[in-house]
Amino acid sequence: MTAEMPKPQIDTSKPHPARVYDYLLGGKDNYAVDQAVGAKLPVEARAAARQNRAFMRRATAWLALSGIDQFLDIGTGIPTEPNLHQIVQEINPKARVVYTDNDPIVLRHAEALLISTPEGVTDYIQADVREPRAILEHAQGFLDFSRPIALSLIALMHFIPEDEKPYDIVGTLVEALPSGSYLVLSHAASDLYPDLVEQVVAQYKRGGITLGFRTRAGVTRFFEGMDLAEPGLVTAPHWYKDTAAPAEEESGGFDSGIYAGVARVR
Ligand code: SAH
Repeated sequence: MTAEMPKPQIDTSKPHPARVYDYLLGGKDNYAVDQAVGAKLPVEARAAARQNRAFMRRATAWLALSGIDQFLDIGTGIPTEPNLHQIVQEINPKARVVYTDNDPIVLRHAEALLISTPEGVTDYIQADVREPRAILEHAQGFLDFSRPIALSLIALMHFIPEDEKPYDIVGTLVEALPSGSYLVLSHAASDLYPDLVEQVVAQYKRGGITLGFRTRAGVTRFFEGMDLAEPGLVTAPHWYKDTAAPAEEESGGFDSGIYAGVARVR
């Protein structure tokens, strides 16, 4: 970003997914319209958001510890410490991270995402996952696509309904990754708490946001042709390895309605 760049325009007349999520996490970068949606969601939505974020932390730390040093994170969200680059660069200061989100508010806060270790790189672009080729083209300028990359689509694909071809989008992205790369994906479930799902979907819809929550089979399909790493596709608090089980307070007594998994690209 250069100093001359105009400030991104923030539309506060309607709710935005990134800002509602920020509200659920207890952040401050949200507006009355977002709070109105968030406040009416079932209380479990807050636990689900926290559990999702904690999955991101554990999964990316595990990948960095396993030797992955390049990360392409799409649907990054408003910075919430620790951010992905802080997690992976603490483990490997040379790690390179490309962040992407389509919401202007994330661009406005992108500076916080661009504070890299001197040895590493972080980069941010405003882009839409529905244009995967444009994202890949940009990422190719920062990441070496001949070496493994972790692609993270965390709490993103449930914003892409069926008619927008979510599986083709993920397929295009994964196809560009070399063997030994990873897909890290979490996704709201439609089949775990149907009553809550109905409330959540209706509430977002009132705000003009269409959600495409998916069944276990629907989420598993994103990993087709890849090898799911242990413990497989599980709910967010159950995805952990080489560490203790997540603390009880993180779960708020609720076993997340978020499916989470990490898979290796063949
Ligand atoms: N990945 C982060 C944030 C999840 S919130 C985390 O798990 O903590 C979902 C994010 O996806 C929001 O920031 C929203 O702006 C972004 N998003 C939604 N639709 C998108 C699209 N079509 N292209 C890119 N980003 C999108």
